[in-house]
Amino acid sequence: MHLRDNRFEQELLKVQRHREYRKKIISNYQPLHRELYTMHAVNFFVPSFLKAINDNTKESLRSIMIEPSPGVYTFEMLQPHFCELLLSEVENFERWVHETKFRIMRPNTMNKYGAVLDDFGLETMLDKLMEDFICPISRVFFPEVGGSTLDSHHGFVVEYGMDRDVDLGFHVDDSEVTLNVCLGKQFSGGELFFRGIRCDNHVHSGTEQEEILDYSHVPGRAVLHRGRHRHGARATTSGRRVNLLLWCRSSVFRELKKYQKEFSSWCGECQREKKERQLLAVGATKLELLNRLQKSTS
Ligand SMILES: [Zn+2]
Repeated sequence: MHLRDNRFEQELLKVQRHREYRKKIISNYQPLHRELYTMHAVNFFVPSFLKAINDNTKESLRSIMIEPSPGVYTFEMLQPHFCELLLSEVENFERWVHETKFRIMRPNTMNKYGAVLDDFGLETMLDKLMEDFICPISRVFFPEVGGSTLDSHHGFVVEYGMDRDVDLGFHVDDSEVTLNVCLGKQFSGGELFFRGIRCDNHVHSGTEQEEILDYSHVPGRAVLHRGRHRHGARATTSGRRVNLLLWCRSSVFRELKKYQKEFSSWCGECQREKKERQLLAVGATKLELLNRLQKSTS
């Protein structure tokens, strides 16, 4: 009882501290490109993406997508000009951090470089991005992991290069659906590699041949996948690569998951185990029939 109360209080304190941290940044940092801070779809997105979202049918969404491996979708999304503005805004923010010696929190435990966009004023715009543009897609392609009930996000950029983070180990995201868009600039290497979707029980299980995918980033092009799709980033061998990440979460899905039984329909390993059990059951039935047949004929 006491332990629980204590943990709750600590959690509350953490939330409060983070709120104050954000307030401090937002009241001191001067944005460079104000037009980024509210959604201007026509200026942000390429026409093909906008049309597919506006038509809002399974066919229209399918028509702009490539699915190089089951569950990984890629499509042209951001205007080059938007990518440039966002890159320059992030650089401006980093400069401010450096000049004021502000102690910032990095996007996650895996990246030493990069910035949380939600922390310096882009939260509202990114919320709109999730609700109006990512939710319509994930409703169609990821319904079984809460794709239609996304209700919070973590938005950040990661920076790779010889003087930045070089690569990123094999991991899963703290998200139901992840949007990953390359913003530029010039780089080589830095491919994303995917190794199949797994539930908590199977996150370390082996990979099947058909689950292996290596993807090379193209500026402006988005990759959309389930958070539980195991992946990593290979070394960026030259230049600098910056990617926009939006981890989309569903509180409904997270609540439901607590009551879920062992089997996860979206996990590659759960599916294989189920198939194996079915095959064994079929085999047992056949054997039983054969036995009966032999008994009746002898
Ligand atoms: Zn599983």
